[in-house]
Amino acid sequence: MDTKLLINGAFTEGTETKEAILNPRNGEAILHLPEASAEQVEAAVAAASDAFSGWARTSPSARAAALLRIADRIEAEGEAFGRLEALNCGKPINAAIGDEIPAIVDVYRFFSGAARNMHGPAAGEYMEGFTSMVRRDPVGVIASVAPWNYPLMMMAWKLAPAIAGGNTVVFKPSEQTPLTALKLARILAEELPPGVVNIVTGRGETVGNALVSHPKVDMISLTGDVATGKKMLQAASKSVKRTHLELGGKAPVIVFDDADLSEVVEGLRAFGYYNAGQDCTAACRIYASEKTYEKLVADLTTAVEGIAFAQSDDTVNEIGPLISARQRDRVASFVERARELPHVEITTGGKAHGDNGFYYTPTVVAGARQEDEIVQREVFGPVVSVTPFKDVEQAVGWANDSDYGLASSVWTKDIGRAMSTAARLRYGCTWVNTHFMLVNEMPHGGLKSSGYGKDMSMYALEDYTAVRHVMIKH
Ligand code: NAD
Repeated sequence: MDTKLLINGAFTEGTETKEAILNPRNGEAILHLPEASAEQVEAAVAAASDAFSGWARTSPSARAAALLRIADRIEAEGEAFGRLEALNCGKPINAAIGDEIPAIVDVYRFFSGAARNMHGPAAGEYMEGFTSMVRRDPVGVIASVAPWNYPLMMMAWKLAPAIAGGNTVVFKPSEQTPLTALKLARILAEELPPGVVNIVTGRGETVGNALVSHPKVDMISLTGDVATGKKMLQAASKSVKRTHLELGGKAPVIVFDDADLSEVVEGLRAFGYYNAGQDCTAACRIYASEKTYEKLVADLTTAVEGIAFAQSDDTVNEIGPLISARQRDRVASFVERARELPHVEITTGGKAHGDNGFYYTPTVVAGARQEDEIVQREVFGPVVSVTPFKDVEQAVGWANDSDYGLASSVWTKDIGRAMSTAARLRYGCTWVNTHFMLVNEMPHGGLKSSGYGKDMSMYALEDYTAVRHVMIKH
């Protein structure tokens, strides 16, 4: 197993405290990994800084070729990457290999093409005797900090547009899930010049903080919690760094009278519980019209009871355990507080599963009210709440009554109602009669406390490049 940091094209062990990297299926340590030291973070930033001027001046075609090679090599080792991700995160093997690896490969392929397709306004003589043009140039050294729910995917979302745009990066995976990043380090070291991507491991408050506070870092890119995002903004303010923040969500799902209920239930079963609900777009906050409410709760309860998990044959599992005991206990405490409310009924689940590993039973919380914590706060576990609504005004009002603004969905056969509702939702994405689907051509990112960085699509490349004006006197 790869355990070494990547700094300036060379591999080196971290020199600080060893942290246990756990297998969430049984709670046992896979290995103990040392953190990077302050000097190693310093060396990684220095390497990225030194590599910047060379990499920034490579042609888009050269950067595109490197991204394609990286994509091909991840694909070639896709099964090994998938197995390692499944081991470290507890993901079902089929999901890790079959869903995530192809999507990750496609991120690098998309940004390979994107690197050669940047557009801008027309150059012209906007003042007599002068020609003006717009350039899109790299921002500089990027500190990229990733969460634990999709480690290799979040790494792809951060690295691919950064490299495509001509930036250099110091990447820090989550301290809980560093293994696939350390495996990818070998490929990155062979396919990119030294220093273009550096990888340091360790906790947020130590290694992460040293990295994002470094004066030579030009931009901070974080996918993580809102509280962590606020810390990034404080760190950024010291030297006015650019920030790119993706900070969680609490996706509302509005189900109108005329929705196809069997499709809704199938969709919620899949998109409310995928990755054990540890997904910032999870379909977790359902608003069902009064007419559909009772049948939806009954059918969803039956469907959720059939979700396969914790089976010894992993190929049948649809979801895995939560990432840690702490996360499982956090999810359990949300459900316990909801259960105490007189109007709430836990129709299925509502308990941890087994003594081994960090499993939580897929749960439906029926009758939750708008003001309830379970409706307002991000649970990040296999827990879906259902709330009945009277009319569209109430549904849209409640959907928008959230600190978050990442993803949402609307379920109806009436295209006009779908469009008018989608237009009123204050979310980075609204799906109609589906949920959770992402494509590399389209942006993913939020509003409000969900942050404002766009991942995927040309918009991500814009986020990782700076617009500049060049004016020439005739
Ligand atoms: P987290 O904020 O605890 O950690 C994210 C990363 O930030 C980790 O690498 C961590 O080490 C680092 N970090 C923490 N404190 C830091 C500090 N002071 N300085 C520098 N780095 C620091 O989040 P998590 O628990 O790993 O992930 C779950 C969260 O991520 C959820 O809120 C989820 O919604 C969000 N998320 C959002 C998206 C999205 O696309 N918007 C995607 C995945 C996850």
